[in-house]
Amino acid sequence: MSLLDKLAPMSERVRAIGDRPVPFDTVIDEANGPCEVVIGGRPTLMCGSNNYFGLSFHPDVIAAAQEAAARFGSATTGSRVASGTLRLHRELEEDLAAAFGMRQGLVFTTGYQANVGLISSLCGPDDVAVIDVESHASIYDGTRLSGARVFAFRHNSADDLARKLAQQPRGRCLVVVEALYSIAGDLAPLPEIAAACREAGAFLAVDEAHSFGAYGAHGLGCAEAQGVLGQVDFLVGTFSKALGGVGGFCVSNHDALKTLHFVARPYVFTASGSAATIAGVRAALRILLADRSLNARLWENVRRLRTGLAQLGYRLGATASPIVPVRIGAADRAIALWQGLLDAGLYVNIVLPPGCRADACQLRTSVTSAHSAAQIDRALAIFEWVGRDLAILSAAACSSS
Ligand code: PMP
Repeated sequence: MSLLDKLAPMSERVRAIGDRPVPFDTVIDEANGPCEVVIGGRPTLMCGSNNYFGLSFHPDVIAAAQEAAARFGSATTGSRVASGTLRLHRELEEDLAAAFGMRQGLVFTTGYQANVGLISSLCGPDDVAVIDVESHASIYDGTRLSGARVFAFRHNSADDLARKLAQQPRGRCLVVVEALYSIAGDLAPLPEIAAACREAGAFLAVDEAHSFGAYGAHGLGCAEAQGVLGQVDFLVGTFSKALGGVGGFCVSNHDALKTLHFVARPYVFTASGSAATIAGVRAALRILLADRSLNARLWENVRRLRTGLAQLGYRLGATASPIVPVRIGAADRAIALWQGLLDAGLYVNIVLPPGCRADACQLRTSVTSAHSAAQIDRALAIFEWVGRDLAILSAAACSSS
């Protein structure tokens, strides 16, 4: 088998879809705000972004990005190590560290690189990484680059984590968890996980990619909401969701975080975020931390969508969060529903193997504070008639709505 032959099964799967919409390959022609896009020439409601507060379209964010692009140009054209750090990068790092009340902050070009850079810099071949089995690809990839021994523990099981940690050397072990899981939409039991780490002398990194902004009295995420911010060694986040930008960050009270500037390969060997991106994210951070009404609107919309989908008869993930998984089962049914929704003007995410078990395919709907009640109701109406048309919803379930 040649190198190219390996790709043939995937090209065949795509070819088999014919001229119907291909999952994971949607082209967006226009965006008319955070919730309305144009796909295939049709106005389409966006319920598949991670733009949880719609901030990528906030006028102050756009103005800050435009002004920074005019002052610094369209790109940094190099790594911070090679070509220099913009004052803006430093200021954003200071803003983030201050927001979390931590001593250090470091900005990465993407959230993916934040996880890969952190894990591969802290762990080497003589160390151990212990991760939740349902971790994001960036966490798995970080452990691969590190060369560390890797153990996965049962999803969200602090007991299984404690068992896995019991055999590991103190001080040589990094535990990495997500706070809000990006596919299942469920929450990590952070106090129990932090206790297991403390007991075993392990360091704890928490990825708040999807939870930053949505949880906690100040919107700092699940560690804040669950009262364990002080027990997290490294808190990772991304700009590509709540902050409407692109990039990632890590904050910590360990001064060692600063050293990643010199050693983290996914940081050293890639160009830094543009001035426009960084200035936009700084503006978004200011808005998100100051305006708590965004958070209230987000949760109101979560309630409205979950209640409506459940009343229609869809099976949802158990935890209420801005990620609303709609459980379908077999891949052909999930693809048919996804395509039917798109044809009807609603874009959501789809999860297929290898991202899930063959019988656990799902649509992944995400809610933002920027959706109006009318938009959520429109999404529900589309879910209702497409689900009924494809016999995914039974007539009885539909008529009860
Ligand atoms: N961590 C998690 C849990 C994620 O879901 C994602 C992206 N979906 C990332 C990290 C990577 O973030 P980014 O897309 O900003 O690179």
